[in-house]
Amino acid sequence: MSEQQQFDVIVIGGGPGGYVAAIRAAQLGLNTLCIDDRQNADGKPAPGGTCLNVGCIPSKALLDSTKHFHHLQHQYKAHGIQADNVSLDVPTMVQRKDKVVKQLTGGVTQLLKANKVTFAHGRGKLLKDRQVEVSLHSGETVIYSGTNIILAAGSVPVHIPNVPVDNEYIVDNEGALCFQSAPGKLGVIGAGVIGLELGSVWKRLGAEVVLFEAMDSFLAACDVDISKVAAREFKKQGLDIRLNTKVKQAQVVDGQVNVTIDNGSGEEQLVLDRLLVAVGRRAASASLLADDCGVQLDERGRVVADEHCRTGVDGVWAIGDLIRGPMLAHKASEEGIAVAEVIAGQAGHINLDTIPWVIYTDPEIAWVGKTEQQLKAEGIEFRSGNFPFAATGRGLAMGDAAGSVKVLADADTDEILGVHIIGANASELIAECVVAMEFAASAEDLARIVHAHPTLSEAVHEAALHVDKRAIHRAN
Ligand code: FAD
Ligand code: NAD
Repeated sequence: MSEQQQFDVIVIGGGPGGYVAAIRAAQLGLNTLCIDDRQNADGKPAPGGTCLNVGCIPSKALLDSTKHFHHLQHQYKAHGIQADNVSLDVPTMVQRKDKVVKQLTGGVTQLLKANKVTFAHGRGKLLKDRQVEVSLHSGETVIYSGTNIILAAGSVPVHIPNVPVDNEYIVDNEGALCFQSAPGKLGVIGAGVIGLELGSVWKRLGAEVVLFEAMDSFLAACDVDISKVAAREFKKQGLDIRLNTKVKQAQVVDGQVNVTIDNGSGEEQLVLDRLLVAVGRRAASASLLADDCGVQLDERGRVVADEHCRTGVDGVWAIGDLIRGPMLAHKASEEGIAVAEVIAGQAGHINLDTIPWVIYTDPEIAWVGKTEQQLKAEGIEFRSGNFPFAATGRGLAMGDAAGSVKVLADADTDEILGVHIIGANASELIAECVVAMEFAASAEDLARIVHAHPTLSEAVHEAALHVDKRAIHRAN
């Protein structure tokens, strides 16, 4: 142990929660330290967390590459474009993804430097009295002292019993982003966000993909009408989604994965080339906290934090995947900004009710606010409007017109309570709906705003009009 240095703010974790919190704190004039343990193959720091290294960014890079490949094979013909002898070079595709990741993690290092955030490359542990012990990758152990500590250690994948992940044959998200060729048969445990996104990647490159989902409903977090359309579209694409199915065990034998599944009516044996475990993530709270630091964990191992990200220990805050709420990069970042601002004496604001969700499948799925089933369960009276992309000029011109927009509004006040989109560019279209909800807009407000023609956003406009049964381009 050597030297002890004092900071205004110490952030443990350099993901989209932690690095953003550190930059905002430094912008506000606070002397800030950010600690992150992730490193590249060359041993250099790789801040950016799960999101930049093994999550949002690499998965989207592969989704984009594979979408080009898939469209070339299956959609361009209808546009009069012949693309014969299309070939595939998966290692180049994966290298491109790695290059994007390196560029972005390098960018975070530069941003931290430019904002005068001190960076420590190693593992941090919160001790009592707001002291942090850091085991640096260089081998040294250092103790720092902070007026405020922000815990931003993120999350790690959940693994299940009898399915040993080796990240070669039985993989989690890390391994599934690195295959050097499309597996012949890919099994996916969990038909959730990761299962669908990464299952789509390898399906588009030729893998036979079967998803084993324990629940008897598909995409239960989505609005019921959206998950129905999604199930239909994914089935058309050849994704074999088996509900009410549990994987009992998996074993690698001679370069293949022998899997035993229970589909509710009995056990079945399957032989697959690769198996992806995508059954959720858990807070990375293990070895983060000394026993006497005072911070509490809940029954799921998450750091207990209130709506302002306070842990209950004076000056200790927690954000992102480590605490309650959706495990999303933008949620982590906004919490980081809000906490930094509160520490600096500002108001800090985070509205957990208007956090958008996006699933980057084809078609994309995006939503904000409540689903129809949630409103019904809560006994809230609502009116609903919807509009198909197939009735928009732009959707048809693009040749990408699957899906629809659904707007849910309060039956009395007309305030928008939720918007649910499945279709091309849903990830971008949802932004307008988030702004509308943040400003407590009514469906009529959205309906009276001019939307450019021809755009996909006209479907949002028409769905808002349809709440009042006055859509123009569909029967009401
Ligand atoms: P993390 O990003 O997990 O960062 C925490 C960092 O802290 C990590 O670098 C970790 O190594 C480090 N760390 C942990 N403990 C310590 C310690 N004791 N000392 C030092 N460092 C430590 N979200 C989206 O919004 N959009 C998407 O498209 C999306 N796609 C995803 C795709 C995949 C395959 C996965 C796995 C996740 C995806 N997510 C997506 C979720 C998103 O990655 C997380 O919600 C987000 O990264 C959480 O940010 P965070 O800062 O809380 O934690
Ligand atoms: P998830 O919660 O989205 O899906 C997990 C699925 O696995 C669920 O449908 C669940 O019912 C099922 N499941 C659980 N245990 C099972 C079992 N034993 N057998 C079969 N099925 C089982 O989790 P995920 O896909 O692992 O992703 C983790 C989190 O990462 C997401 O919830 C999300 O917060 C984040 N993420 C976000 C994005 C995005 O924003 N586009 C993309 C990927 C990941």
